[in-house]
Amino acid sequence: MAYDKSIAAFEEAYKVIPGGVDSPVRAFSGVEGTPPFIDRGEGGHLFDIDGNKYIDYVQSWGPLIFGHCDADIETSVFKAVMKGLSFGAPTTLETELAREIVTLFDSIDKVRFVSSGTEAVMSAIRLARGVTGRDDILKFTGCYHGHSDSLLVQAGSGLATFGTPSSPGVPADLTKHTLLATYNDIESVQKCFADSPDDIACVIIEPIAGNMGLVPADEEFLKQLRTICTEHGALLIFDEVMSGFRASLKGAQGISTVKPDMVTLGKVIGAGMPVGAFGARADIMAHLSPEGPVYQAGTLSGNPVAMAAGLTSLKKLKANPAIYVELGNKAKKLMDGFQKAATSVNIPLVTDVRGSMFGFFFSDKTVKNFDDALENDSEMFAKFHKGMLDKGIYLACSSYETGFISTVTTDKMIDETIKAAYEVMADIVK
Ligand SMILES: *Cc1c(COP(=O)(O)O)cnc(C)c1O
Repeated sequence: MAYDKSIAAFEEAYKVIPGGVDSPVRAFSGVEGTPPFIDRGEGGHLFDIDGNKYIDYVQSWGPLIFGHCDADIETSVFKAVMKGLSFGAPTTLETELAREIVTLFDSIDKVRFVSSGTEAVMSAIRLARGVTGRDDILKFTGCYHGHSDSLLVQAGSGLATFGTPSSPGVPADLTKHTLLATYNDIESVQKCFADSPDDIACVIIEPIAGNMGLVPADEEFLKQLRTICTEHGALLIFDEVMSGFRASLKGAQGISTVKPDMVTLGKVIGAGMPVGAFGARADIMAHLSPEGPVYQAGTLSGNPVAMAAGLTSLKKLKANPAIYVELGNKAKKLMDGFQKAATSVNIPLVTDVRGSMFGFFFSDKTVKNFDDALENDSEMFAKFHKGMLDKGIYLACSSYETGFISTVTTDKMIDETIKAAYEVMADIVK
């Protein structure tokens, strides 16, 4: 494939945008080549400015569960646009989308909309601290909760790819309140609580981690986490910005029996528009301004165009919950295909699937936490990624990311992808 126009565009972007990108993981730093610049999407496909066509398993990093240019979503967006882009005043669209979320999630009585996942988590943490009157928070190594200061500690994906444990510009004074535990390891959590039994405001976790590759939490681990939080009066926050409406209609909460105190959402609830949300029981949300004293605000929060996109998307999902079975089967078919392709040439590969989310590691052991994830063969991944891209398969450009099946991903596309995987794996061992 020729990438001449993208290479030139990347050079031009580099002159005026740091690293040529507006979010680091897009820069292809962990893989070979330069990022294709995208001209347009169509269903399950992406087209770059050189005219190359790709099967898209990134889907804007998760939001596009109906693929690109879904007619219903776009029509609702066009209608909203015609009425005006933003009012900074309440609209009924916000209430409608809130009602959809509240009826789906038992753990959410009330929800507030923001403009990104980062903002959702940042606000949820502030609320948890405000409600409990405590400063410390506990997170898990390898879990990503957006790029706000106190959460930028051992945070997976972009940071893992660049080997940066944290970031300059984040004062140690801010991260000293962030305690770190190991994913799927309750003893590491018990240790944190033993060290500061009454100071932890909340435990935040991706119940299905998607930012160190796909690493689901064990059900038993989540149950123990629930118990320890309740015992110590710490709030349990499920960060479902990625897994919400992806792992199932109710995210991880449709799979696990464990109920969190607070939930953060994003990605699919905006269907490609910038939306985040955080919700909880009514008594917790009552602490939020203007009902309560914990301040949180946003000029463009609940933006009508974004609300329209999210509302249409959620209504479509609710009208046809069986699509998650179909998406899951397709994800499984894809991962089984990758597995067989790897095994055929003795490349070690482990795979996992949760609903429409899939992940694979070039490793011979089951990945349970971030240290396990780091043991994957990232050079092998880089070669695989490049080989697949050259065959028109657009996979996430880091071995610490999750892949996504959308309703527009056809069996034919999956067959084509598996065929490519066989060829690329065979090339790698040549
Ligand atoms: C993507 C993501 C975020 C951050 O969302 P942005 O919209 O990128 O700010 C937070 N938490 C999780 C689990 C995510 O996957």
